[in-house]
Amino acid sequence: ATRSLTPSSRILRHPEEYDDQIPNVTLSQFVVDRMREFGDDVSCIDPDTKRKLTYNEIADSILALAAGLQLKFNLKPGDMVAVALPTCLEYSITTLALNLCGATSTLINPAQTISELTHCVQLTKPTLWIGTDSFDSKFSQLYPQVATRPPMVLLRSANRGGTNWEDLLTSGRGKAVQSVGNNPLELVAFILFSSGTTGVPKGVALTNLNYVVTRRQSQETTKYLIRNPDDVTLFFMPLYHAATLNGLFECFMRGLCFVLMNKFTFEGMLKCIQEFKITVMFLVPAIAVQLLKQPVEKYYDLSSLRMMRSGAAAISKETLLALQEKFGVLILQLYGLTEATLCTHGNTFTHNRDGSIGIVMPFCESKVVDPTTDASLGPNEEGEICVRGPIVMKGYIGNEAASKETVDPEGWLHTGDIGYYDEDGFFYITDRKKELIKYKGLQVSPTELEKILLSHPDVQDAAVAPVPDETAGDLPRAYIIKRPGSHLTEKEVATFVADKVSPHKRLRGGVIFVDSIPKTATGKIMRRELKNIKSKL
Ligand code: AMP
Repeated sequence: ATRSLTPSSRILRHPEEYDDQIPNVTLSQFVVDRMREFGDDVSCIDPDTKRKLTYNEIADSILALAAGLQLKFNLKPGDMVAVALPTCLEYSITTLALNLCGATSTLINPAQTISELTHCVQLTKPTLWIGTDSFDSKFSQLYPQVATRPPMVLLRSANRGGTNWEDLLTSGRGKAVQSVGNNPLELVAFILFSSGTTGVPKGVALTNLNYVVTRRQSQETTKYLIRNPDDVTLFFMPLYHAATLNGLFECFMRGLCFVLMNKFTFEGMLKCIQEFKITVMFLVPAIAVQLLKQPVEKYYDLSSLRMMRSGAAAISKETLLALQEKFGVLILQLYGLTEATLCTHGNTFTHNRDGSIGIVMPFCESKVVDPTTDASLGPNEEGEICVRGPIVMKGYIGNEAASKETVDPEGWLHTGDIGYYDEDGFFYITDRKKELIKYKGLQVSPTELEKILLSHPDVQDAAVAPVPDETAGDLPRAYIIKRPGSHLTEKEVATFVADKVSPHKRLRGGVIFVDSIPKTATGKIMRRELKNIKSKL
């Protein structure tokens, strides 16, 4: 049965009937249970080593590692564990094993600088770490006092003296995993980092309920698809971003084999598509633009591609249509945000409209509000997009003020994105109200960069705002007021920042010296005004 798509009220829901049951289990129980159905089929492939793991091997490893972790560290529900692994097949095994113990995985990008890592540690206070040898020196810098250093489990370590991931796995084989109690859905499963609508990156607390519902959402939207054992999907985005790890969980539950790139290069991605005959792929707009602009089809056989899903940033209607035409594929655009676990709106096989982010997903409600009065708006009226439902985060860890600012007392998450819905309930993004800069789908917080700039002795004041870029989406640009008499150069400013941040946060949009920075009466930077400022030179 299909409900009418026409939005009769100003709160929109998924137009199709769906089963709204939510099982009372942890995410890992839900996933492992489904994986057993696909038994000895290949679940995932490492494209560098060609190592393959079957569903049973992964499921067995999750159980064994969970038991090993409980035996060695007495891991309990609520314990905070920092996962600082690079992209690898063991990543999902590790996080699902931690989840089976009831622990919280905080997903740490190991390539971050010490100051970025310190921020993550201060927010989440992990009592156990899981990483690799190459992270060891950063780990020692993070905890200079050996006495206060939490234990670290090392994957593929050359050092046999510490606690090795592989040994934990062996020790847990055949052992029982202790139960997490009667309320598994309430446990915080993951912490991911997002700056939200304003400020520096915050820890987004996502519960088992959030993740189990997200899996149920995926089950409902794909329920009419027949499993094709020849389908292979490709992931190349980092696993600490919401879309990637969720994508792996989806593959586990749908019996969809995936190739997981350890390190992204555009060439490497094309080689993977050709070698593994990738049929389904998750795309970010920056890659879509490259696929369109470069004559990739001359050098690679990409004819296996059948379907792509694009998200994490806006893809233009022109790019989407041209890419569909060039490769003869179907592209479905999705929209979501870390604070809503994964996806709140999306195009589906039955409801697809080019240029739109799609209809409201199951288990979610959405409305568009006037940003000043908060009144709900009707079709084709532009305002802030809000979402509600069991996909909405528990909150920002240790930051009640920011949580309250983002999720209102009625449970509506204010996304900070501006858009509208049409008469048929399709949503469109037109602008961004929040400060966020998105470089190739990855977050850059202007506030974080401004704090770094202000720590430079020659900088009197600083503001950071995005400049649009066809390939990357946004580039961060700095506007600087120099201290009188200073000889600071643009290059020095850019290098100063580059030394302190992860590569995607560099000032690729340039540095402009200015005499003043537009601010409101309360001292808030008027970022929209910044784009009218031209360089003095
Ligand atoms: P993140 O939490 O890093 O996934 O970032 C979420 C933000 O990315 C959203 O609030 C949007 O600003 C942006 N975003 C994600 N998907 C889309 C999309 N399909 N179109 C436009 N913006 C998007």
